Amino acid sequence: MPDIQIHDKVFVPFISKEKIDSQLAVIAERINTDYAGKIPLVIGILNGSFIFAADLFRLLTIEAEISFIKLASYKGTTSTGNVVTAIGMEENLKGRHIIIVEDIIDTGKTLASFMPEILSRQPASVKIATFLSKPEALQHDVKADYCAFEVENNFVVGYGLDYDGLGRNLPELYVLK
Ligand code: 5GP
Ligand code: MG
Repeated sequence: MPDIQIHDKVFVPFISKEKIDSQLAVIAERINTDYAGKIPLVIGILNGSFIFAADLFRLLTIEAEISFIKLASYKGTTSTGNVVTAIGMEENLKGRHIIIVEDIIDTGKTLASFMPEILSRQPASVKIATFLSKPEALQHDVKADYCAFEVENNFVVGYGLDYDGLGRNLPELYVLK
């Protein structure tokens, strides 16, 4: 695979589609086992997770539902600073088994600030599935229950992740050169 240019930056191939597929199969198998008979509600966080969520969901052989939300952050008036709120969450989460699907956990800030909203809706359980995580960058108390790849603290694009709007449609993952 050749290097690619997006806007002003050059990216090099990082994780192949074959590797992505085989890791997703591992995660899906664990979810199929963990959630048999539970009819989990998978909630994908847009935009970044849409490809990962679709590919993972297709590999689930159990009964499962899927929905997508967008997160919007605004400056809160409290000392906690930015507050994240969900747009488009119409499902009743009460008593449901929820699997949040993210593209990447970087500092963990997004999920840390969103989790209270999920928990306030009284789900039976909440787990997190992420395509990528950057352990070195983590600053918040967020732990992925299912993670396809732990990567170093470098900027990546492809497989749903963008650089300034572009690159989401690349089937493989690339890293900044
Ligand atoms: P966090 O709140 O965990 O710090 O950030 C999570 C969000 O930051 C991700 O959902 C993603 O939109 C963005 N992000 C973090 N690292 C990367 C990266 O390496 N590449 C891209 N494209 N987005 C990233
Ligand atoms: Mg994102």
